[in-house]
Amino acid sequence: MSYRSLNEECGVFGVWGVPDAPNLVYYGLHALQHRGQEGCGIVASGLDGKMKRVKGEGLVTEVFDGERLSGLHGDIAIGHVRYSTTGGGGIENVQPFLFRHHTGDFALAHNGNLVNYSILRKMLEDRGSLFQSSSDSEVLAHLIKKDSAEAHKPRIFSIVNALNAVDGAFAFLIMTSGRIYACRDRYGLRPLSIARLGEGYVVSSETCAFDVIGAEYLRDIEPGEIVTIDHHGLRSRKYTDDCRHAMCAMEYVYFARPDSDIEGRNVHSFRKESGRLLYQEAPADADIVVGVPDSSLSAAMGYSEASGLPYEMGLIKNRYVARTFIQPSQEMREKGVMMKLSAVKTIVRDKRVVLVDDSIVRGTTSKRIVNMLKDAGAREVHLRIASPPIKMPCFYGVDISTYDELLCARRSVEEARQITGADSLAYLSEGSLLKAGRRSDLCLACFNGRYPTRLFQTVEDANKDGKF
Ligand code: SF4
Repeated sequence: MSYRSLNEECGVFGVWGVPDAPNLVYYGLHALQHRGQEGCGIVASGLDGKMKRVKGEGLVTEVFDGERLSGLHGDIAIGHVRYSTTGGGGIENVQPFLFRHHTGDFALAHNGNLVNYSILRKMLEDRGSLFQSSSDSEVLAHLIKKDSAEAHKPRIFSIVNALNAVDGAFAFLIMTSGRIYACRDRYGLRPLSIARLGEGYVVSSETCAFDVIGAEYLRDIEPGEIVTIDHHGLRSRKYTDDCRHAMCAMEYVYFARPDSDIEGRNVHSFRKESGRLLYQEAPADADIVVGVPDSSLSAAMGYSEASGLPYEMGLIKNRYVARTFIQPSQEMREKGVMMKLSAVKTIVRDKRVVLVDDSIVRGTTSKRIVNMLKDAGAREVHLRIASPPIKMPCFYGVDISTYDELLCARRSVEEARQITGADSLAYLSEGSLLKAGRRSDLCLACFNGRYPTRLFQTVEDANKDGKF
């Protein structure tokens, strides 16, 4: 996935009430590694309630060598894998954040992006807060602490108030002595699920991480819900009544692992169905179907099944490319394409190929892959995309940041085809994307510009809302 130009920002994983929780979080983070490769960390809490953290830049296996992991103990722990968006890279932005306070330590891990981060940070700094990082996630911690310090009330009320002040996409894990709070934004833009393990509980951005440690999936956390996990078991409350389902469609299309289930729909099944529908909408006169590994393989299988054309391994991914090439710079990623993918000449030579990809962002990767297939002897390449054209930036933590970067922001499909060099190009419609998900309530804002939240909030707006 990482040679592509679209990147998710993070994954979170937490364990409550299970012996050796840091080890389980390690395995969980390893299963969520596709959601971020820049850095990762674990905070664990022992019987004395004292929290200890290990974090670093790099992959989970690099940061947590045996020695560093064995320094963490306890039956409560949360962890995080990071791909930087707001705040950029650097060790100070690697999570979980850990705060020492006379009322007790607490830790925080966040997946998503807060759209009103800048004004909240300014407001907090004006009131004396000092930030450790440039990450948007730290704002929530300051809001919680300020609120509880000012009003001396139980922490859950401060968390409710803080969540009502932030806008945007989030799945937050907040860990205090003896307790984990798992919170999902009012639109459910980022996934968050909960499972049972022995006498304890596990929370994860994706269900694929439950299987690794043998946890039994219970349910997804609902939009606007806070689940408190402690010695009373699970308790649920809504931080707002103003909530609805608008989960990020790109989680199904590209980010999530195919073995994850999100809001009742398996990701592989979603993608396969999108491939079937893509064939119905855009058949191609061709000999074979080839998918771009790995995230497009399920859609390619669906296209192949629906069309009756054989599914072939016309592109092979080299799994042993140096880590330099999974860095988050565009130039590095593009170079990485040539190292990470190879066309199989004996399979594609003299063939008319249907090339199935899950999405096109900038188009540079698609162009290189089309060229690669033609250089390997493909007679024709018909590019089929298992999602609609991406025309708008995302403000919710996915690095589709500017109009100028997007192939289809200001171009027709025909102009896009010419740039990629494909013999034909077609995209899946929004209607079929929703059909593949068997739902009508996904966020499709990067395709159609209908953002579920307000995007730019002024201090006056925030005051009017009573947020400050
Ligand atoms: S704008 Fe696109 S990438 Fe961003 S949350 Fe919505 S569907 Fe996902």
